[in-house]
Amino acid sequence: MKLDIIEVKKENGKKKFAITLLIIILIFVLIFILVKNSKNNNKNTNEYVEEENIIENNIQENKTNTSQKLVENISNIYNIGEKNVYLTFDDGPSKTVTPLILDLLKEKDVKATFFVLGSRAELYPELVKRAYDEGHYIANHGYSHIYDNLYASSETIISEFETTENLIRQAIQDENYESHLIRFPGGSKGNQYSDIISQTIPILKERNIAYLDWNALTGESSGKKTKEAMWENFIWTTENKNNIVLLMHDAGDKILVYELLPQIIEYFTNNGYTFKTIYDLF
Ligand SMILES: [Zn+2]
Repeated sequence: MKLDIIEVKKENGKKKFAITLLIIILIFVLIFILVKNSKNNNKNTNEYVEEENIIENNIQENKTNTSQKLVENISNIYNIGEKNVYLTFDDGPSKTVTPLILDLLKEKDVKATFFVLGSRAELYPELVKRAYDEGHYIANHGYSHIYDNLYASSETIISEFETTENLIRQAIQDENYESHLIRFPGGSKGNQYSDIISQTIPILKERNIAYLDWNALTGESSGKKTKEAMWENFIWTTENKNNIVLLMHDAGDKILVYELLPQIIEYFTNNGYTFKTIYDLF
């Protein structure tokens, strides 16, 4: 009897030992699995971060490539395609003329490019937003339009450009917008500021900013005071041109531009031109 009890105790002791051993082994296995998983997770996170960086770099690279292509296309604008016309409006927005022009462009389903002044965009951001929302391209005409201030140095040109870009971004409520395009007030050539402008062009180009003059104009800012005179100037400067960048103005005193615009649109339509904007050059 006593021996039996001893046997049972021994048996129980063995069982307890086996169970304890099993639990210890299980704990080790569990720890091993946990450590392994956490290592894998770290690896995955690192891989994920790396992948994200690659995507980010690709986006940045694509963006740079796109801007470079745009700058190149703009400098080649007269040689891309056949019979294209770019309607361009400078010096706006204005409270009086810009809304009328926008109404008309909407009615005719024609898109244009607006070279806005920072000082005007600051006053009428809602008109810049409207033009942008209605599919027109918003480009940069500097801030002040005061030649002595703007053309004092390359730095002042760039600073006016940047100030205006910021005002455009605020107006259209898109913090990432970049127009990549300036039109120099008075044009890039043939004036007393040509030297400083030509020194600034490569600096702008390095920043993927193009410039665009024009090869046709209605002339309301160069002495054409009547619709007839403007029409004559328009025909004279557009005739026999394959690709046209037409300079017009939507400043507050340029109501004649609005009045002449239906005739201009009709002329281009009847002569087989396609209306284009800078968006078509991306
Ligand atoms: Zn101007």
